[in-house]
Amino acid sequence: MPVSREFQHTVGKTAGFSGTSLHTGEKVSVKLHPAPVDHGIKFKRKDLQDEPTIDARIDNLKTVERATTIGEGAMRVHTVEHVLAALSAMGVDNAMVEMDANEPPIGDGSAQPYVDLIKRAGVTVQEEPRKFFDVREPMHVESKTGALLVLLPDEKFRISCTQAGPNNRFTQYLSMEVTPAAFEREIAPARTFVFYEDVQPLMEKNLIKGGSLENAIVVRGEAVLSKEPLRFPDEFVRHKMLDIIGDLALVGRRIRGHVVAAKPGHATNADLARAVAREQTQRSAMSAPRAIPIGDSGLDTGEVMKILPHRYPFLMVDRVIGFEGENKITAIKSITINEPFFQGHFPGHPVMPGVMQVEAMAQVASILLFKLTNTSSRVGYFMSADQVKFRKPVFPGDTIFIHAELTRARGNRMAKTKCYCVVNDAVVSEGELMFTFLDK
Ligand SMILES: [Zn+2]
Repeated sequence: MPVSREFQHTVGKTAGFSGTSLHTGEKVSVKLHPAPVDHGIKFKRKDLQDEPTIDARIDNLKTVERATTIGEGAMRVHTVEHVLAALSAMGVDNAMVEMDANEPPIGDGSAQPYVDLIKRAGVTVQEEPRKFFDVREPMHVESKTGALLVLLPDEKFRISCTQAGPNNRFTQYLSMEVTPAAFEREIAPARTFVFYEDVQPLMEKNLIKGGSLENAIVVRGEAVLSKEPLRFPDEFVRHKMLDIIGDLALVGRRIRGHVVAAKPGHATNADLARAVAREQTQRSAMSAPRAIPIGDSGLDTGEVMKILPHRYPFLMVDRVIGFEGENKITAIKSITINEPFFQGHFPGHPVMPGVMQVEAMAQVASILLFKLTNTSSRVGYFMSADQVKFRKPVFPGDTIFIHAELTRARGNRMAKTKCYCVVNDAVVSEGELMFTFLDK
């Protein structure tokens, strides 16, 4: 797989505009400021003492009713999804969004004012690579109300969305790859829409003071009420895609995957963002360390060979770089063009055989079990391998980080381990290996 080098971006200069906030109906000004690499998107409340800032991250999510609200302590920022959608889709990774109220201007209910703002500020490249989340396996979230989001592996960020109103009125479907040009043309102009039966109670409670036909389309029965006519025949599904992009921006990484959504809403969008963030945390926990330790914490080749009986060309562990507690081990194996298996696998096209990666996992797991049982009178035999998956090819020049974790042990007789081979922070193979112990 070719490694694309995409770099982070920020805005070129400060730019802003003023408008009305949806929930309070008050005047609010917003300004976009450039920010350094790895800063992400933050909001600043200029109107509060000490001008607190908050990260636009899923950990800070507070409520998802009708709009997405983030907060920390007593501070809140409401309705962040349209500005986040525009920043994310237009390629801005780092920016400070400064406001003098608890909500950015609602504008015309679309992301158009924010696209215009970003274009006025400009988008400039920075020196650090972008951070991505690559979907490896399908993930899904659903709600009791029938909303469903599925995230599938894809090399691009795509959304396929089905929107349906009450009693399936106004059912619409659209599928597209999200690029800055496509977002600007097809998604950003799509306005917020509401079904009259949903907003009537809110209007009675005076909860949407800034709401009007200037910043939302109201659907009453079969009638579509708005100040200007529909911008697209399927404007509703486009706005749902806008909200998905904005809510998923809370992941803090660009997603390479295909979102398939049915009747999505902020709550399920946020659930998916949370699931992605959790998966990312797990991956980071097992990604390879940058500096390889030597000495006390690990085992060098000589020590490995005291434990494992394997020898050239079948010793698949160069060094153990560390143990974590009693149950985890990480080892490395550098793959060179001199590996004997490359002669035949395949002539002129060297690819490491998957079974050799399973062998490497088994050897590393054996070292862990040896440390655990701490006996030389019994020997562990590799008994079975389940759930083995080969995800990416391994080539000469790759360094494999082999992780093994003990997941189950029954006395001194049986043990189960979960193992991963990782190259360049990506899992290349994995499996569950089972061992049994026998007297020598
Ligand atoms: Zn929206």
